[in-house]
Amino acid sequence: MKATQFYFKTRKEISKDEVAISAVLLTKANFIEKLTSGVYNFLPLGLRVIKKIEQIVREEMEAIGGQEILMALLNPRSNWEQTGRWDSFKALFKLRSKYGSWFALAPTHEEIITPMVKNYIYSYKDLPLYLFHISDKFRDEPRSKSGILRGKEFIMKDLYSFHQDEKDLENYYEKVKKAYQKIYKRCGLKAYVVEASGGTFSRFSHEFQVLTPAGEDIFYHCSHCGMNRNKEIMENTKKCPECGHKIEELKGSEVGNIFKLKDKYSQAFDLNYRDEKGEIKPVMMGCYGIGISRLLGVIVEANYDAKGIIWPKETAPFQYHLIGLFKGIKKEDKEIKKQTDLVYKQLIKKGLEVFYDDRESVSSGEKLVDADLLGLPQRIIISEKTLKNRSFELKERKSNRIKIVKLKDISKII
Ligand SMILES: [Zn+2]
Repeated sequence: MKATQFYFKTRKEISKDEVAISAVLLTKANFIEKLTSGVYNFLPLGLRVIKKIEQIVREEMEAIGGQEILMALLNPRSNWEQTGRWDSFKALFKLRSKYGSWFALAPTHEEIITPMVKNYIYSYKDLPLYLFHISDKFRDEPRSKSGILRGKEFIMKDLYSFHQDEKDLENYYEKVKKAYQKIYKRCGLKAYVVEASGGTFSRFSHEFQVLTPAGEDIFYHCSHCGMNRNKEIMENTKKCPECGHKIEELKGSEVGNIFKLKDKYSQAFDLNYRDEKGEIKPVMMGCYGIGISRLLGVIVEANYDAKGIIWPKETAPFQYHLIGLFKGIKKEDKEIKKQTDLVYKQLIKKGLEVFYDDRESVSSGEKLVDADLLGLPQRIIISEKTLKNRSFELKERKSNRIKIVKLKDISKII
């Protein structure tokens, strides 16, 4: 992609209300644009990352049997009244049609998926069933300062599982835990599995926390036995409740959570099945969330330096940032541009994702500053100096390691 043909302009100054480093960097580098508090537009660069995260999540959900569906976001009031959450769900967005009916804008989908699968699940032969959905969600949050980490409108993946009994639910829950770890690893993150309050139905639910300086959650970690527990559910103590070892307090950003719902929603909607003996039993359920747009923010919170973002390979919007250090119309400039154009064509032909800064009106210094801000994994620079040796400079954003490569060897770097 050529910069001159792309929706791309970096920004030096942005609104002072933006305090989360992820929102600051993503706005400056032209990935996102704030519409109003807690509501963002995703620009071409940001959407490329979102699509990559979605694809990683989709692949790992399908690997554990998940089938993708897309549920409605405009939910009738009656579904939410059936579970009592029309009144009790504090962050529920409610709106009234001019024809008189009330709707909720979906913040989660138990109220929709449970009655939906009633038309599918009749007998034990229809179980287990795993359905997931990647879409926008809405929560009427108080004015937030966390940028895309906590929005009123955000993108989420939610998986719902349906089982014959608790044992089958337990087994699948552990499978999801492993799939989640794969997802975070592929996103370039190390996530801690942290025990959190399980509500009324089980002792614990689990959340996945990535260590970030700006993390909103505090959890206790025991390096001796590996226990991780959210501070909110644990008595104030300095010793591990499992092994008695000294514990440390860590700050994290939540990137996912999983719950055993058991029969809470199947009871509310009469979701039952007939077992092998013909007995009617409630379906056991689990639900598993990952905030996709939040993950975009957390990846940045965990991967940046004073110059800008440092994208992990698998979620970078492009792999290569190609820069020809030309400006103007001198003979040397024309030669640099010609060579850079050629390299661009070679890389594109190989099917690589290349962002080519072909702007002629911008100084070399500005191009390099923008490249650091954007943070693509590899930078290729062609200048008057490198051309003298028929070569180019290859620099890794993360390590700052520089290699000088001959132009004729370009296919070897890939
Ligand atoms: Zn311990």
